[in-house]
Amino acid sequence: MLTDHASLERASLDNLRISVTPDAVIRVKLPSDVGVILKLANQYRIPVTTRGAGSSATGSAVPIHKGWVLDLSMLKKIQLNPVSKIVTVEPGVVTDVLQKKMAQKGLFFPPDPSSKKYSTLGGNIACNAGGMRCVKYGVTRDYVLGLEGYLANGAAVQWGLPLKKYVSGLNLKDLWIGSEGILGVVTKAHLKLLPLPEKRWMGMFAFKNEGIALNVVTQILKSGLLPSMCEFLDRQSVVCAENFSGKSVFKNCSKVSIVIIELDGSSEVIRTQKKCLFEIIGDSALDYKEAKTEAASEAILNTRRLCSQSMYSLADTKLNEDVVVPIEKQHELIRYTLSLKKEIDLATPTFGHAGDGNLHVHIMYNRANKSEQKRAQRGIVLLMKKVVALGGSITGEHGIGLAKSPFMKFQHSKSEIQAMEAVRSALDPNGILNPGKIFEPFEVWKHSTIDKKLPWDH
Ligand SMILES: Cc1cc2nc3c(=O)[nH]c(=O)nc-3n(C[C@H](O)[C@H](O)[C@H](O)COP(=O)(O)OP(=O)(O)OC[C@H]3O[C@@H](n4cnc5c(N)ncnc54)[C@H](O)[C@@H]3O)c2cc1C
Repeated sequence: MLTDHASLERASLDNLRISVTPDAVIRVKLPSDVGVILKLANQYRIPVTTRGAGSSATGSAVPIHKGWVLDLSMLKKIQLNPVSKIVTVEPGVVTDVLQKKMAQKGLFFPPDPSSKKYSTLGGNIACNAGGMRCVKYGVTRDYVLGLEGYLANGAAVQWGLPLKKYVSGLNLKDLWIGSEGILGVVTKAHLKLLPLPEKRWMGMFAFKNEGIALNVVTQILKSGLLPSMCEFLDRQSVVCAENFSGKSVFKNCSKVSIVIIELDGSSEVIRTQKKCLFEIIGDSALDYKEAKTEAASEAILNTRRLCSQSMYSLADTKLNEDVVVPIEKQHELIRYTLSLKKEIDLATPTFGHAGDGNLHVHIMYNRANKSEQKRAQRGIVLLMKKVVALGGSITGEHGIGLAKSPFMKFQHSKSEIQAMEAVRSALDPNGILNPGKIFEPFEVWKHSTIDKKLPWDH
């Protein structure tokens, strides 16, 4: 149990950067410790916030009601069954470590949040994390065969086993996935693996505007071609990156909208898919770059990463959303972000996983400027209403946490929210697990954030 200033400070925040100091950090050494700790916490009604790497974008790992932070980062065992190709992991295993270890054996664990060098499997499961390869491979949930862990009262439970098939009883495994640590604590996960694709190829294409870029995405998906990545950048995002680096992303054009496509499979499959891709794109692209090696692909993906960081040249704060709309309505959403930009007079750079309809819309504002703060708040409410009106979701991968809690009512009816709360009180009657999240509306823009360099900041 740690109570020194540095440990408490580290556990007080996640990537939302709202900081609340817990009373203590408990660094778990054995999975069974979790049961003992929860039994005590339940008896004395102490709030418990489970923590992996603290990279959550929504404040879901912030101990908003203080109490204990349960740090699982030391639980790092990995055990592979080479026959069933099922890997059993403890929750503190870092996603990238698992991916690299499995790749050495010719196996592939696809869910790849951009935070994968830091984020843990426990956090990925609790948030049902997505990433860039979801278009072909799906999200974390699609790879979880079974979970072990503890209920709020400290009772040990297992939902599923390391088996390919399992339909016994109610499926509480899927209730835990994406539940942001409010229904139980995961101490072990059995994960499905795929064969590692033989080869990968990446292309980055420049388009005159978002309409042409997103139309190409629709045509690619309609054609039956299934890329392993299909990312989109709007012109506002690209301009940020170009201003930041002082050079144009492409030789022959600038201020363009970009689509990044990755193909994977055997050389033969990639050759056929590439031919089909270039036929679809035809002469609609102004320019393109291709990457045949991993290093060259990284350079392309760095452009995307640069867009995210360079947005801070527009204003010191961003509301970073991860909304989803039906794939064919993405252009309508982009048109809306452009009209919103005019209406609230704030930049709305947008990029994301166009193959899934999952776009990161950012509203940029200066926190100290009260007028900008108000306009950002208005903008985010209008955006969320529009997304739901388009048949979409207020979140596709980050979850609700604190940041999205005011918008739950846009997405869900009263009865739906009551049913969710009933599940929560059935599994955690004293409300000790990660209290204050999902259901209690929390207006982030009214809270100050702390300016601290976190491990994933460059
Ligand atoms: C730079 C950056 C890029 C990102 N990119 C993506 C992306 O592409 N896709 C994406 O989906 N997300 C992304 N995220 C968000 C975040 O990284 C993911 O949600 C990640 O899965 C969180 O993992 P973590 O270990 O940091 O969890 P934490 O932040 O520590 O915790 C997140 C939530 O999970 C709960 N939790 C953690 N471990 C357990 C456990 N063992 N049992 C029960 N509950 C638990 C916590 O209580 C909390 O509610 C990004 C974040 C950053 C900072």
